[in-house]
Amino acid sequence: MHESDLHTSLASEEEVSQPEKILTTSLVVNRDNLVVELDESWLEQARKNDSESVLAIEKILYQPLGKFIGDDNTRMYFEASLALCRLKKQVLYRPYRCDSPTHKQFMELELSPLEDGKVRMTHYLLRTEPFDKPVKFTAVQFTNNQHLTVKRCSLCNSIQPTGSAEWIEPETFFKDKSDVMTIHTVCPDCKNITWQIRRPR
Ligand SMILES: [Zn+2]
Repeated sequence: MHESDLHTSLASEEEVSQPEKILTTSLVVNRDNLVVELDESWLEQARKNDSESVLAIEKILYQPLGKFIGDDNTRMYFEASLALCRLKKQVLYRPYRCDSPTHKQFMELELSPLEDGKVRMTHYLLRTEPFDKPVKFTAVQFTNNQHLTVKRCSLCNSIQPTGSAEWIEPETFFKDKSDVMTIHTVCPDCKNITWQIRRPR
């Protein structure tokens, strides 16, 4: 191969390459949605904390995935998505947000079908953007004071203010507030989003 050919092939590969993304965590569930495998990043993170965290991570193994999802709507959404992945037998992916108090974190969730009905769930970080002002949400599972809480979408992090039909960006909602209690759910847009199919390259 001539050097000039090499340049040509490199250039075209660059054109099709995806923006760089960072694998954050992955886990595998079996056909009954029990967590059967955690990647090393979970343990690494736990070791940075203390031995109790390591034990907590080890306790996740062989537990139902749904146990770690705080609300019924998000749990049902994930169960339906895992079922879709098994049915299609294809790698599926969709964007989501997992914001920190200081940054918007644009993520991607990938579902890969494995043998015996197992599915690998891999989370990638695509990019981050700072919030103009820190946002502080405190997730609660139950409240008897509806006025103090708002609904927050587990997948895009949008907020539905109490008494409103609209879903808005967290930073818009947060302009004049400092700490808000939220109940997690899945917003209508996220419920209707179509999973993308990742073709093998
Ligand atoms: Zn949403």
